[in-house]
Amino acid sequence: MLQVAIVGSGPAGFYTAEALVKKFGAEVRVDIIDRLPTPYGLIRAGVAPDHQSIKAVDKRYAGTATAGGVRFVGNIQVGDTGVTIAELSDLYDVVVLATGAPQDRPLGIPGEDLPGVIGSAAFVGWYNGHPDFAALAVPLQHAGACVIGNGNVAIDVARILAKTPDELAASDIVEHSRIALDASRIRDIHLIGRRGPHQASFTPKEMGELGHLSRAQPLVDPTHLPPLEADDALDPGLRKTVGFLRSFAALPRDERPITIHFDFLSRPVAIEPHGDALRLIVERTRLEGETAIGTGELHAVDCGLVVSCIGYRTTPIPGVPFDTAQGRFVNVEGRISPGVYAVGWARRGPSGTIGTNRPDGFGIVDLIAEDLTPADRQGGAGLDALIAARGLRPTSFADWQRIDAAEVADARPGAPREKRVNLDHLLAALLP
Ligand code: NAP
Repeated sequence: MLQVAIVGSGPAGFYTAEALVKKFGAEVRVDIIDRLPTPYGLIRAGVAPDHQSIKAVDKRYAGTATAGGVRFVGNIQVGDTGVTIAELSDLYDVVVLATGAPQDRPLGIPGEDLPGVIGSAAFVGWYNGHPDFAALAVPLQHAGACVIGNGNVAIDVARILAKTPDELAASDIVEHSRIALDASRIRDIHLIGRRGPHQASFTPKEMGELGHLSRAQPLVDPTHLPPLEADDALDPGLRKTVGFLRSFAALPRDERPITIHFDFLSRPVAIEPHGDALRLIVERTRLEGETAIGTGELHAVDCGLVVSCIGYRTTPIPGVPFDTAQGRFVNVEGRISPGVYAVGWARRGPSGTIGTNRPDGFGIVDLIAEDLTPADRQGGAGLDALIAARGLRPTSFADWQRIDAAEVADARPGAPREKRVNLDHLLAALLP
C-alpha cells in the first residue's frame, strides 16, 4: 500500500489527492493534513466572497475527500509544533507540500510597517474570515485608500472596498467585515501600478466587473493608454482587459460617490504618517520596453488605508530547503528531496488560477510514480498514534461537514453561510 501525506488542503492539495487516487486506485492511502480545522485553503480564505461560482469547486474536493482512500486531518500544524516533516517522512512513502503562499511579499519601502498599511493576505483573510486575521484593525474612516499592484488580487480588494451592502448580500463575506465596510467613508480608491496598462496582470472578467458597480466608477487617464494599434500585439486576454480600460477612459464622469482611480506609471516609494492618516509617496515612471524607469517626479496620495497586493510567499518549514529570494521551497519540477515534493504555489510561486493547480497536481503524481520505491510504512495509523500521544485534537472530514452545516445554518438571508472566524468557535460546532 502506498502511503502519502499531503500538507495543505487547498486546490493543489486536493488535485494531488484526486490524481493519486486516479493513478493508484485502491493501492493508495492519502492523508491531507491542514493546520486549520477547515479544508480548502485559498478557496475558503482567498477567493473573493462575492465570487461564489469559483468557490463552488469545493464540491469536487468534497468528492475526493469522501470517495475512499483519502482522509482530511485538520487542526494539525506541520513544522515546529504538531508534527515535523522528518516524522511524516518516516511514516509515509511520500510527503507532498501543498502549503500555498500565505504570506505577503514585503513592499520594501519606508513606512510599510505603519498602522493602516496591510498586506493583501491579511486584508483578504480579514474579509474571508481566516482565523489569523479576524482581529485585524482596518481603518476605513478616511476618504482615500491605496491598493498597490496591478493584479487580480488588487481588483478583488478594490471591488470589495467599493461594493454596497446590497451588492455583497449574496456573498459569504464575514459579519465583522460587513459591519466595518458598511460604515466605510472611503471615496477614492487608487489602484497603484508601477508600469502601464499593457503590463498589467488583470484578467478581463475581473476588469469587466469594475464597470458594473452600483456606487463606484472606474477612472482611467487616457494619456496612460498606449496607441490603439499597439493592442494588436497583445494576447487576446490582455487585449480584452485593455479594451475595458479604454472604455473606462472614454466614460463621462457620473454621480456615483466612489471613484476607482487607475494610477498607472506610479511607483510607491514611501508611506508617511499624515495627521491621523497616511500618505503614499509615488514616483512617476516611464516605460523603457517593459521596464519602469523612475522619472524623479514625486507626488503624494492622501489615504487612511494602504493595501499592498504585490504577491505572496510560501511559509518556510524547518527541515525543508527554502529559496528566500523566490519565496518558495527549493525544488526541481516539484522534487525537493527523495520522497518529498512540492506542488502548486509552494512549488512554482503565486501565479495562475485555481484550475492551474489541477495539471500541477496530476504532474507531481506522474513524478511520484516514476520515483517510487515503496516501503512498508505505517501511514495514517502512525500519524494518529503520534497525534494522540501529543494530545492534539485533529478534525476529520465528517467534523468539517458539521462545521459546514453550522455555518450554513447561521447564514443571514440570501447568503450561503456565516463563517466561524476563530478556532474556539469553529471547534464548538463539534461539541455534542
Ligand atoms: P500578480 O498577478 O502577480 O500581480 C502582482 C502585481 O504587483 C503586479 O502588477 C506587479 O507589478 C505588482 N508589484 C510587484 N511588486 C511590486 C512592488 N514592489 N511595487 C509595486 N508593485 C509591485 O499577483 P496577485 O494579484 O497577487 O495574484 C496572484 C495570482 O492569483 C495571479 O495569478 C492572479 O491572477 C490569481 N488570482 C486570480 C483571481 C481570479 O481569477 N478571479 C483572483 C485573485 C487572484 P509588475 O508586473 O510590475 O511586477
